[in-house]
Amino acid sequence: MSERVFNFSAGPAVLPIPVLEEIQRDMLVLPGAGASILEISHRGKDFVAVLEDAERQLRDLLAIPNNYKVLFLQGGSRLQFSMVPMNLLRGSGKTADYLLTGSWGKKALDEAVKEGATHVCWDGKPHNYDRLPAAGELQLSDNSAYVHITSNETIEGVQFSTEPDVGDTPLVADLSSDFLSRPVPVERYGLIYACAQKNAGPAGVTVVIIRDDLLALGDKSLPGMLLYRNHSENDSCYNTPPTFGVYVVGLIAKWLQEEIGGLASMAERNQEKAALLYDVIDDSDGFYQGHAARECRSLMNVTFRLPSEDLEKSFLQQATERDLCSLAGHRSVGGIRASIYNAMPRAGVEALRDFMQEFRQAN
Ligand SMILES: *Cc1c(COP(=O)(O)O)cnc(C)c1O
Repeated sequence: MSERVFNFSAGPAVLPIPVLEEIQRDMLVLPGAGASILEISHRGKDFVAVLEDAERQLRDLLAIPNNYKVLFLQGGSRLQFSMVPMNLLRGSGKTADYLLTGSWGKKALDEAVKEGATHVCWDGKPHNYDRLPAAGELQLSDNSAYVHITSNETIEGVQFSTEPDVGDTPLVADLSSDFLSRPVPVERYGLIYACAQKNAGPAGVTVVIIRDDLLALGDKSLPGMLLYRNHSENDSCYNTPPTFGVYVVGLIAKWLQEEIGGLASMAERNQEKAALLYDVIDDSDGFYQGHAARECRSLMNVTFRLPSEDLEKSFLQQATERDLCSLAGHRSVGGIRASIYNAMPRAGVEALRDFMQEFRQAN
């Protein structure tokens, strides 16, 4: 197979072709460095320039205020499930509030309970994580260290479109699967984290955006690698950072800025792409059953079921025959999941839409 398929994988996921081409073009020699990005020291001026550029691009795209640090870490979002409560909860005498809108939020909570007192301020589990809390449904604790949300639940396909109101309590968000898909008011958050491999780069690098005052928390007794402050004070070079990943995140950010025209423009395209699929679901007389309540639908992961598991199986098989690949829902929930991140071209979504219409007609 030498042709690229339309890849609807939830992550690692499709990357923009211009970015892949630039990586390929510069693979033997990063311009000016005399060697490839894979071969140069993280302390040398060439890599430092790559790192500074990636940070500058992210700051421009997201309008990150000066009192926030941008860190490039390893360990994926799963490690952030632990680092957040280790740094912001452990020993604080406070309680961390967790808003559970899907499977990832629950996994984040499972790590937090090991570090201190936690409180579930809303739980979507009773209705199978198909919606978000309505205004007034949140039960925050009195002495809250932070409120943790998952902005887009990748498995269930439920996404916040605006931030919940949590007053002065720091809002901590797992943005793994919608980072860089739209503008984000960073100033409303205490901390944002996102592994790159869904929408912002390759596996191996995780971006953390953290407000200065939260960097002061975190006890020196923590393992050095797990203390945000160490990474901040060393400009993400406390140890060898994931150099290739940082480089690709920088290229993606440049692509978003120069070719797409920024995050507002990206968000518009993502909205249009998602509408193509949700319209088919809504016009299918119940043949396709969307998982998420309409007002909470994800623009990144479109999740739905067919009338039977047999039909789902043949849907997936026939889709693959048309080069519409990796559409199976997460193993924990089944069904179909079309992940249509930034780099999924509109043509791919249109091809899936056409197939969905044909499949329904035929069945
Ligand atoms: C993929 C994902 C994770 C896990 O990321 P890893 O990098 O595999 O640790 C966490 N949260 C969300 C919302 C995700 O989509």
